[in-house]
Amino acid sequence: MNSTPTTEVAIETDVVIVGAGPSGLFQVFELGLLDLSAQVVDSLPQVGGQCTELYPDKPIYDIPALPVCGAQELVDRLVEQIAPFKAGFHLGQTVTGLQQTPSGRFLLETSAGTRFDTATVILAAGLGAFEPRRLRATGAEPWEGSHIHYRVREPERYAGQRLVILGGGDSALDWTLELHGKARRITLVHRRADYRAQPASVSRMKALADGESLEEFHGHVRSVFETDGRFGGLEIVDPTGENHHVEADHVLVFWGLAPNLGPIAHWGLDLDKRQIRVDTEKFQTNVPGIFAVGDINTYSGKKKLILSGFHEAALAAFGVQQHVHPDQKVRLQYTTTSPIMHKRLGLAD
Ligand code: FAD
Repeated sequence: MNSTPTTEVAIETDVVIVGAGPSGLFQVFELGLLDLSAQVVDSLPQVGGQCTELYPDKPIYDIPALPVCGAQELVDRLVEQIAPFKAGFHLGQTVTGLQQTPSGRFLLETSAGTRFDTATVILAAGLGAFEPRRLRATGAEPWEGSHIHYRVREPERYAGQRLVILGGGDSALDWTLELHGKARRITLVHRRADYRAQPASVSRMKALADGESLEEFHGHVRSVFETDGRFGGLEIVDPTGENHHVEADHVLVFWGLAPNLGPIAHWGLDLDKRQIRVDTEKFQTNVPGIFAVGDINTYSGKKKLILSGFHEAALAAFGVQQHVHPDQKVRLQYTTTSPIMHKRLGLAD
């Protein structure tokens, strides 16, 4: 799924969908059937939400008519299903700002500066935007960005450097193996002796760990220390409680991603804990024109299942149509027999 390039001018649309998880993707389909245009924003660089980010290879057994379906396969099928509707995708961007204009439309802005002028907003933001779990050790914050990093943008930057890599999952192990031999020295620090990464990567790392170019270390980070006012490295406590000063030029943290509701929490929406309250007729929030579907919403009896998100997306689409075209009579049409539906699906001229 390609991302649409950022533009200076606000993109006009009927709907901005915040979140490209299964609910947001199926939302494009339901809106498309009603001839409503959609733009989709997601903070992750790819579509699929939790399915792609957290469990792409796991099988799902409770999607109607698919006795078993891989999580990534489900996302791929949804992407194929919504292709006829040509929604715009804006990936790797978090929705940061929302404003309502006097005409009742909404101006939305993303972290990349993309702006939308939209009649309605559908929040399909799941648990919130996924952000890297931060190193909260004493003294860490001022060094974030310069010496403490959460993703590798330019691997060549670490050539000849002393690195500490934190984590026990695939990202930590993959980057350890990738940077081994390029960095001057790598210390891989994981809390426990068992790793979540692929066993083959763990075996390769153990074979390379000679205590010099690569050292495997178990313990937890207590603080960042400085040497002559410069970044010095990490103070790490091993399982026996002993402190170690591990010198480093850079620290790469791969502790996975944690969801954060972020700015959505400050948009004046009726929240119940960290979920958005909606009605069960249109899945509209307390702000007319803003809808919420999928894991992010709550109502009596809510179940956080993909199936629920699909149902909610169908009814929210009708709600949006009523909001955008209050004078039009909404007619339910079957995709099997309706020539209009066939046209919208690209099956007829
Ligand atoms: P999500 O999948 O969470 O997607 C939300 C998207 O919104 C994310 O991509 C996020 O990056 C984006 N986002 C959030 N805030 C912003 C913002 N401000 N700006 C831009 N983007 C934003 N369900 C089932 O029905 N059956 C199962 O078998 C099943 N198995 C599961 C197994 C595991 C291990 C897990 C973790 C979950 C499972 N689930 C299952 C639950 C299912 O994955 C969720 O119900 C589903 O993903 C919810 O879809 P969603 O689209 O509402 O939200």
